[in-house]
Amino acid sequence: MTQQPPRNIDEARLLANITTRAQRLFQDGYTLTRQDEHDLIITNDEGDKRYYLSTLFESCTCKCMAIHGTCKHYLGWRKLEETQAEYEAHLLKGYDESEDYGRAVMEESLLRRTCGANI
Ligand SMILES: [Zn+2]
Repeated sequence: MTQQPPRNIDEARLLANITTRAQRLFQDGYTLTRQDEHDLIITNDEGDKRYYLSTLFESCTCKCMAIHGTCKHYLGWRKLEETQAEYEAHLLKGYDESEDYGRAVMEESLLRRTCGANI
């Protein structure tokens, strides 16, 4: 899917909103699980919604993609994956209070993912 320029102010606002939120997926508690080279699963902060992304087909299973042809998951997955990897490496090296990764939300989300349970 190719991103078209906005046709009107509402579309421009919507796109700006999606773009902003795409940059904050990690801080908002989203987690990414890579299935293979092109297929990713993004789980929301509550752990109750999963979106299946294909980087090959530039698709996502969320409603926003179906309606608007783009979404925060698709625009933000690369940054989410990078930040998540950086954060996990950071945790493995030991905790550093000076770095802020939006920890409160992220830790809960990480715990939920690693424990696979409702906490
Ligand atoms: Zn999406």
